[in-house]
Amino acid sequence: MTRQRQLIFDLIMAAPEHRTAEEIYDLARAEMPSLARGTVYRNLGLLVREGQIRKLEMPDAPARYDRERRPHPHLVCERCGKVEDLVMPDGLLRPFALELGEDITGYDLKLYHLCPVCRKKA
Ligand SMILES: [Zn+2]
Ligand SMILES: [Zn+2]
Repeated sequence: MTRQRQLIFDLIMAAPEHRTAEEIYDLARAEMPSLARGTVYRNLGLLVREGQIRKLEMPDAPARYDRERRPHPHLVCERCGKVEDLVMPDGLLRPFALELGEDITGYDLKLYHLCPVCRKKA
């Protein structure tokens, strides 16, 4: 791994936040001021392709990057876009599998709410 890629990887692994490429760029540049934006984007793409991190596509907003690679649902703030991990309740997919008569092989589940900070402002 290059020094740049290691830094980007470490920043993602260090926190449960699901940051955007721009947020990661700002953090990375604080430690490596010469880092170019394109380098950050390119290395994020490589880390996703290698399966070291996950990319979380967001509707009408920049993608976010996730250190947790196992499938899990997300809780998204409708207002500020903050993303948190949720634990999939046991058996939640079973009714769908029964209805379809086949195994569910994966899912992409986002639940929306107002986070405590935005709820206070509302
Ligand atoms: Zn919020
Ligand atoms: Zn996540």
